[in-house]
Amino acid sequence: MRGMNDLLPAEAPLWEWFEARIADWLRSYGYQQIRTPIVEYTELFVKGIGEVTDIVEKEMYSFEDRLNGEHLTLRPEFTAGVVRAAIEHNLTYDAPRRVWSMGPVFRHERPQRGRYRQFHQVNVEAIGFAGPDIDAELIVMLARLWQILQLPKVRLQINCLGQAAERAAHRADLIAYFERHESALDADAKRRLHSNPLRILDTKNPALAEVVDGAPRICAYLGEASRAHFDGLQQLLTAAGVEFGVNPRLVRGLDYYNLTVFEWITDALGSQGTICGGGRYDPLIERMGGKPTPGIGFGMGIERVIELLKDGGQVDIAPGCDAYVLHQGGATRTHAFLVAERLRDAGLDVVLHAGDASMKSQMKKADASGAEFAVIIGEAELQADSAAVKALRSGAAERAFAQQSSVPLAQLADALIEALQAAETPLQ
Ligand code: ATP
Ligand code: MG
Repeated sequence: MRGMNDLLPAEAPLWEWFEARIADWLRSYGYQQIRTPIVEYTELFVKGIGEVTDIVEKEMYSFEDRLNGEHLTLRPEFTAGVVRAAIEHNLTYDAPRRVWSMGPVFRHERPQRGRYRQFHQVNVEAIGFAGPDIDAELIVMLARLWQILQLPKVRLQINCLGQAAERAAHRADLIAYFERHESALDADAKRRLHSNPLRILDTKNPALAEVVDGAPRICAYLGEASRAHFDGLQQLLTAAGVEFGVNPRLVRGLDYYNLTVFEWITDALGSQGTICGGGRYDPLIERMGGKPTPGIGFGMGIERVIELLKDGGQVDIAPGCDAYVLHQGGATRTHAFLVAERLRDAGLDVVLHAGDASMKSQMKKADASGAEFAVIIGEAELQADSAAVKALRSGAAERAFAQQSSVPLAQLADALIEALQAAETPLQ
């Protein structure tokens, strides 16, 4: 299906590696996982994301349940569902809460590199903290992740959207400004001029760059408290050594943001360069029926990060198992079957050859499997209660079994484990 991808076995190890790093990284900051359904009532997203947004206007996969007529939508982002769950299970009463999720989201967009219809996000929400310390922590945490992943240069942009009253004053001036320049606007911008003029600043149409550049900036409308919040954030980022740029046009796609908004951008992916975006949404929880509770979070596009990981070529992922067990059929097949089980008992990852094939063809399969060792159980080995071991990769493991050598079965698991451990210690 257009814009929806299969993840094939060749690429799965990179995703698994990424997902394991994500889980460790989030744990190190005290985040706990929350998993919400992929389907929610359409109303939830309309209310939670805002009617005049790209997502709600044209990107949602919505349908009517044939059996009961309910209006449902495949989640286009995580925050609305996570906030719903937090309200429903009283997590907002026990706030503060630090939660994360990972999984597919769905948006009907024009598919292109880095833009899909089913894609995946890591989503993080910190509920119950007013900031700006938590705002800074989330951003510093992301800077650490890029280091862990060794991503090539990603830039940070931040902005402050202030509070509702400040945005209202800005909005009035923004409308007046764009009305004066209406002839320079495109159809989307004209439509949004009165419903959501802030979103015009977020346009992807380069023809609007000039008129958008001259528009009134929200920073000029911030009151003392908002300015203090933004200053506090910048001080902490500077203290932590995280570089940032203030982008007065950064408003983010969703309606519910206030105060801090941020994006991490790379130049390495062409025009789909935003790998992570987030911000504060203090009004949202109350608007969705919870008690007033501040919140901040971000969504990260996994496909785009994976693309960067591939480009960087920094990640070395061994796709193979520890041992591939070969046999000559007949009694050696049963024996090999049991030897493989004993090796797995010892904690090794083992693939047992299935079916009949010549030794030569099995050896080719063993090599292609990426296994570190071939463990051969032939007639002679069956009689001698041993296995022939052959190292398939170069390196220390190979030195431990320079030639094909015969190992008594009783010592096989230990010998393989020792050789694998030696292989992990680089030569000085
Ligand atoms: P964009 O401006 O690129 O459309 P967005 O503002 O709609 O992004 P968010 O809603 O903030 O994106 O989603 C968080 C992240 O998810 C983005 O920063 C991006 O990395 C990723 N993302 C968004 N849309 C897609 C998509 N269609 N395919 C792949 N990744 C996406
Ligand atoms: Mg979008």
